[in-house]
Amino acid sequence: MSMEYSVPIYWRNRVNYYKLIGGRCKKCGRVFFPPQSRCPYCSSDNVEPVSLPRIGRLLSYTVSYNPPEGYKLQTPLIIGLIDLGETRIIAQLTDVSLEEISEGIEVEAVVRKIREDRTAGLIHYGYKFRPVISH
Ligand SMILES: [Zn+2]
Repeated sequence: MSMEYSVPIYWRNRVNYYKLIGGRCKKCGRVFFPPQSRCPYCSSDNVEPVSLPRIGRLLSYTVSYNPPEGYKLQTPLIIGLIDLGETRIIAQLTDVSLEEISEGIEVEAVVRKIREDRTAGLIHYGYKFRPVISH
């Protein structure tokens, strides 16, 4: 998955732990996630970091009962398409059961373990989304 971070990068970015940072293209104006040095839409390198809202709306989701190696402990793996206003992102859903999920619910970004690479001894962290609990 393109959204994951290796441990060193994760710690280097810990100041932004609770911020969801994407990129904005100064040429075509589109917003994308994760941030990258070149716009995925028009290939311009005139991009700047932009702070994305951590709360979005679940547009749709898909469930995998046979996830790839490294994700087995997270079965079923729930992947959602999330509307963040200026952009849409695809991310794993967490802290939720299938019964609690429906299209249109509010979800918020949290940092969680994404997967373990046992041969390299690495744990990858990245953003996942969980339902916003209303009290
Ligand atoms: Zn662009």
